[in-house]
Amino acid sequence: MAVGGGAREHAIVEALARSGAEVFACLKNNNPGIARVAKGHLLVDEHDVRKVVEFASAKSVDLAVVGPEGPLEAGLSDGLIRAGILTASPTQSAARIETSKSFMRNLLLKHKVKGSIKFAIVDSVRDLELALDELGMNVVVKPTGLTGGKGVKVVGEHLMTKQDVLAYGEEVFSKRIGGSAQIVLEEKLVGEELTIQAFCDGTRVVPMPAVQDHKRAYEGDKGPNTGGMGSYSQSDGLLPFLRRSEYDGAVKVMADVVSALKKENAEYRGTMYGQFMLTREGPKVIEFNARFGDPEAMNVLSLLNSDFVDICERMADGSLSNNAASFLKKASVCKYVVPEGYGTKSLAGEEIRVDEKAISEEGAILYYASVNEKEGRVFTTSSRSVGIVGISDRIEDAERT
Ligand code: AMP
Repeated sequence: MAVGGGAREHAIVEALARSGAEVFACLKNNNPGIARVAKGHLLVDEHDVRKVVEFASAKSVDLAVVGPEGPLEAGLSDGLIRAGILTASPTQSAARIETSKSFMRNLLLKHKVKGSIKFAIVDSVRDLELALDELGMNVVVKPTGLTGGKGVKVVGEHLMTKQDVLAYGEEVFSKRIGGSAQIVLEEKLVGEELTIQAFCDGTRVVPMPAVQDHKRAYEGDKGPNTGGMGSYSQSDGLLPFLRRSEYDGAVKVMADVVSALKKENAEYRGTMYGQFMLTREGPKVIEFNARFGDPEAMNVLSLLNSDFVDICERMADGSLSNNAASFLKKASVCKYVVPEGYGTKSLAGEEIRVDEKAISEEGAILYYASVNEKEGRVFTTSSRSVGIVGISDRIEDAERT
């Protein structure tokens, strides 16, 4: 069973089905790609642990994969595990590496994980001001909790003066942005961003090809930050700016995090997403997600050569082997089609027509995202609509596909 209704989950459902599984799905929107592949699905609030677990039990599912972070924070994996279902996604406690930025930074500090950066955790405007005096203005301001990628403000980009930082701090504290009145102030990193996703079984970490995503809307990086407009990967699993030793260094950081979580009695079983800044001193941690990235899942799952069901079962029961996952040695480029106005105010409820035949004749792969199918017609929501993936030897050719 898969939980979630975006393109990431469509890619997960396709990968499970490719491995011969009979797939059920729980999702809030009627994603036509998922609905078509699934043997059955339930339209439901994905955070409603009781309803999702009831559906899984009623369908006697053996294995569950949770796509988005919200249900992880709500304890969905814990509920599924309690119901005796193998679950290839982390518990509420292990998912804190994503759901609490202060937990994540403290964990790295306590266990002396390489790639840590300077930070301060503050709960009041007064402490924010003191931390600014100490760290200087070369910083990034983050609410501790989940904000769907929209709460992070970079000084020099989104906030210009000390007054701006304090005013944003006041807003976070008073409105409890991200669910709590706490901010992590971090050293601002400079370099290229990269993502590594890895299958984890509590102890072992099996990495996937590196991916770089593209967050800004519009051509030429002129638009607002989004959940991600597209992403690419290179045939050798590295990126044009990333050396093997640097990739290995970032994977080692993820392995150290998995072992730190184990020591804290929060074994991490599931896919982990590490976002790094490649600085002059090597890869430094920007953040972790307790799940696949979206769009990055579409890159790696389109290239996965191994049996995904087997990998998920082994993540869940702690029996992953180091060579569990192999990937096509090809480049991949994923691009999102989004509603007009996405990033500021999306045109939701618009009908779209997707020429599936033309897309497949071009050799591209189509994943439906946050759209709704009603009586054979497909409508946009406020989020991204369709992900298209091209695969080829070179990044340039994959982009043209
Ligand atoms: P996050 O939600 O933590 O992924 O942050 C969103 C974006 O803010 C990242 O993709 C980076 O571009 C930027 N960012 C976050 N943390 C830092 C940092 N410490 N230094 C520089 N940029 C950052």
